[in-house]
Amino acid sequence: MGVIEPPARIGMLGGGQLGRYALMAARTMGYATTVLDPDPAAPAGRVADTHLVAAYDTPEALEVMAATCAVVTTEFENPPAAALQRLATAVPVHPNPATVAIAQDRIVEKRFLHQHGVATAPFAVVESAADLAAAAGHVGGPGLLKTARLGYDGKGQRPVDGIDGIDELAAAWSALGEVPCVLERRVRLDQELSVLVARRASGAVAVYPVAENHHVDGILDLTVVPARVAPTLAAEASELSHDIATALDYVGLLAVELFVSDGHLLVNELAPRPHNSGHWTLDAATTSQFEQQVRAVCGLPLGDPALTAPAVAMVNLLGDRWHDGEPAWAAALADPGAHLHLYGKTAARPGRKMGHLTVTAATPAAAAAAAIAARDAARTQR
Ligand code: AMP
Repeated sequence: MGVIEPPARIGMLGGGQLGRYALMAARTMGYATTVLDPDPAAPAGRVADTHLVAAYDTPEALEVMAATCAVVTTEFENPPAAALQRLATAVPVHPNPATVAIAQDRIVEKRFLHQHGVATAPFAVVESAADLAAAAGHVGGPGLLKTARLGYDGKGQRPVDGIDGIDELAAAWSALGEVPCVLERRVRLDQELSVLVARRASGAVAVYPVAENHHVDGILDLTVVPARVAPTLAAEASELSHDIATALDYVGLLAVELFVSDGHLLVNELAPRPHNSGHWTLDAATTSQFEQQVRAVCGLPLGDPALTAPAVAMVNLLGDRWHDGEPAWAAALADPGAHLHLYGKTAARPGRKMGHLTVTAATPAAAAAAAIAARDAARTQR
């Protein structure tokens, strides 16, 4: 693949906050930008030179992208496969449709990981009622039934406690619409980690410091970097993520989500895009994950992924916080190490990611405490 240099045009499928930041990075570097997203109010639409307001599979919109963009990338894992393939016949698409297809389907993803010797929570595939008994037997303990496709932020999942009789499992499968699912054993979570990896077509890889993630109700709440984890485990997580990107022949930015369970690493899932747990890189890495995505998909040399502070923490701002009106942002910024990011979304629905706060500090514990305090200050002081 040739190198794509500014002022060429970069196309983005998906106009959420991840696309918004990637296109801001692209614009900073002098690229022209086009986003395709059906929502006229999509966060990335405001920062792109051109916003094609159309469904992802609209032939005319895909033709405009293919004709005007030098490369197309994505910011979410569920663009229709047909749209990606259509684009890929005319223009480089990174990550490529085959790779996105692996991450779009938990069954395919888990099989890929196992083929490459990567440990996951024990799982079994449920595609028909006939699979239920064997799946329950194989997983052999309390589990989580997850839809193979279109699940995110804990959606499309049901806990299954009594795996001995299959009634509860059958009820969970029915509640999920009897679509293809994986039944995973609910493993002990010592910690949740994520690793961001950028890879170019040349094979060059840059791995970000390992992040430690804390979820509330299945949604990321707090990320702390560097992760407070044994150095050997952190090194193993980095190496594993590097190897996964190489095995996928990945081009772009990949997030690998991991569990530490009884002292061992298990891969939970792969996100073929920048990741919420990498937002800290906007304020505390030499190269943000979004600039890195642009560099990777354009075939440019990768930037340094190193932390620029001893430690950093990021807290998400969900729509629930707008319950009593706009939070008091000045109070959140009283800490000089704090940075506010709002995505320009107008409708603050509960659970919707509206923005985040990042705080740098001398230690991971101090950064985490300061980020939470900054967020609390926005709620309590006005
Ligand atoms: P996911 O949608 O797969 O990322 O899962 C959302 C969250 O559910 C994870 O971040 C974990 O906190 C939890 N979770 C998912 N799978 C498992 C599992 N097999 N065992 C224990 N907890 C899990």
